[in-house]
Amino acid sequence: MASTKVAGVETSTAHFIDGKRVASKRTFANCSPIDGKHLANVSAGGAEEIDAAVAAARRAFPKWAALGPEGRHRVLKKFAQGILDHAKELSAVETADNGSLLMGNLARVIPRAAQNIEFFADRALKLGHEQIDSPEVVNHVRFDPAGVAALITPWNGPFMLTTWKVGPALAAGDTVVVKPPEWAPLTCSMMADIATEAGIPAGVLNVVQGIGEEAGAALAAHPDIDRLSFTGSTDTAKLIGQSTARSLTPVSFELGGKSPYIVCADADLDAAAQTAAGQYINAGQVCLAGTRLLVDASVADEFQNKFRAAAAHMTVGDPRDKSTRVGPLITPEHFKRVEGFVERALKSGVKPLCGGKRSSVGELYFEPTLLEGARQDMEIVQREVFGPVLTWQTFRDEDELIALANGTHYGLAAMVFSKNQERAMRIASRVSAGTVWVNCFFVRELAAPFGGSRDSGIGREGGNWSFDFYCDVKNIAALKGSFA
Ligand code: NAD
Repeated sequence: MASTKVAGVETSTAHFIDGKRVASKRTFANCSPIDGKHLANVSAGGAEEIDAAVAAARRAFPKWAALGPEGRHRVLKKFAQGILDHAKELSAVETADNGSLLMGNLARVIPRAAQNIEFFADRALKLGHEQIDSPEVVNHVRFDPAGVAALITPWNGPFMLTTWKVGPALAAGDTVVVKPPEWAPLTCSMMADIATEAGIPAGVLNVVQGIGEEAGAALAAHPDIDRLSFTGSTDTAKLIGQSTARSLTPVSFELGGKSPYIVCADADLDAAAQTAAGQYINAGQVCLAGTRLLVDASVADEFQNKFRAAAAHMTVGDPRDKSTRVGPLITPEHFKRVEGFVERALKSGVKPLCGGKRSSVGELYFEPTLLEGARQDMEIVQREVFGPVLTWQTFRDEDELIALANGTHYGLAAMVFSKNQERAMRIASRVSAGTVWVNCFFVRELAAPFGGSRDSGIGREGGNWSFDFYCDVKNIAALKGSFA
């Protein structure tokens, strides 16, 4: 069956449906962003493969649901361990496929993916024990598995972001059909093999590879899915929403961002500058990145100097090198998009404080860029660039700051740097965002809610919010004293 060696690892390029590898006649080419080299021809699925996968997931559902949280817990623990056992291979393939830093994948991303599975398997054991007493009845709250969950994920963290959905969905008792991103499809394919090795039964986890407009659209429009969880761009979510509206399929949407990075006059400027330079990580292809630096005017010069010094250490290079901090952009098409944003901004009078162009490292590498002088209504401030590009704005008082911070359609995250707890918490409560980090960035507790407001998403996942979504929550209200 179709497979290929990527970074020394044998990787299947076929779908995984009902416990079997199935190849399509049509394929799509998958290249590495590191050097543009062709990695694989991957099966391009469509309605037929999606139908088969949804049917397999439907058939597997009753048995998987009947296992109960304890039965599923045993298998999911093995699945999590399998991910850790294959961490080296997964990291190498992920880096080759999407250009993310190898060290980051080894140290954080893949272990976190295993944790995504383990955490929700553990958490599911505690579900459904809630009783709400009222004068006449006892309310027994149950979290019943919902059915077949469709999971569609993006290329910037394909393995990690897919386990973030697969973990709670399987722990809840749902069966799943995964549609991986076509720009980095390989580690999701490996996930299917690891799940099988762990003893996850055929049909419980299916993977259909393909182009978004074909396989993704067919999955979103499928009448026999019970949930659809999507992470990706706002524009795609609007298309998916048109399909799911027809079947009233409940959706969870985790979308783009244009998050404000707020530096108050009383902040620890060294720490704030270090963390601000860290927004270039993954070449800025991070939904949560604080891409709009909003700095109190009274410390603007001092902070800018510190930022530039910190940004100078963000070495651009091959993501497999230990010294690299900023790797490549994902594809030539995406590179052009990022470059276009910067070129149009520069043409309209915005100035680069650093970067602003292709790096000499290679075709898909862009210099860490900071742009000054953009008006709030310009596209460089309003739209998600998804590259190593930050904008610089200053504010004089808190109302001006809040107007700038909330002056886009997004609401995914925000960062606030201040030593004054009251001020920091006040600003945090006034900004529109699903997550606000105060004096830190990217600290994500799996039990905490995660998601975005406005154009950044619908719903929350994490902790019991995930089970609210992947389960049918039922209340059984039994009349007191009515039983013999
Ligand atoms: P995208 O929307 O282009 O694609 C995401 C997924 O949707 C892919 O698997 C793609 O094949 C599929 N898809 C595309 N068109 C489709 C259609 N018509 N119907 C069904 N599925 C379709 O996004 P991307 O470029 O892969 O990812 C980048 C975006 O994801 C950015 O906007 C980023 O902010 C966002 N993102 C959000 C989060 C979050 O947690 N909020 C995390 C990571 C990335």
